[in-house]
Amino acid sequence: MAKSKADQYWEQYVVKRPGIIVHDGTGFKDRIWENKPVPRWSPVDTGPQVAMAPFLVPSAKSMVEYGVISGEWAQGLRNDPSKIRPHYHDDYEEIFIFMGTNPDDVADLGGEVTFWVGEGDTLKGVVFKEPGAILVPKGTLHFPQIMKNVKRPIVEVIIMCGAGRRIAKVPLKADGSIDESRFKGRPTWG
Ligand SMILES: [Zn+2]
Repeated sequence: MAKSKADQYWEQYVVKRPGIIVHDGTGFKDRIWENKPVPRWSPVDTGPQVAMAPFLVPSAKSMVEYGVISGEWAQGLRNDPSKIRPHYHDDYEEIFIFMGTNPDDVADLGGEVTFWVGEGDTLKGVVFKEPGAILVPKGTLHFPQIMKNVKRPIVEVIIMCGAGRRIAKVPLKADGSIDESRFKGRPTWG
């Protein structure tokens, strides 16, 4: 059947097959779902699904990711095997939203989230026991994020405002190695 004018018009704005992020050995790369089931990062973590980004909708001026965490989990630890470390973004602020999945109680987050943000005097492990969100301003070091006592899957949504590309910077020393001193006070777990 021929596409209507409306079909053609809205095609450029619609995502019907989200992206996933894979590490190919050299870095994280965006891919569109190719196979089902869609590969996930771990038994308790779907990994980020990319709902909106310029590689999906070329005119997009922001990026949105989401994922489901169904057990104890942490990301962005100082020694994280997933290669995601505490990092910052020079070019965009980032909003993290933590949502529960209990239709009978929207105040039920399903677990406890600790989100580490800031450095030095402003370093804080912000604890969420109910659904909530945090705005991470441009240039602010953030992570790890740690989920404990997960009784019911937690949905996490990440909005990268005005971001055309995902550019995460890890603090580096002059010789190019990671400046671990900037991670002082951040936990390895807990
Ligand atoms: Zn970030």
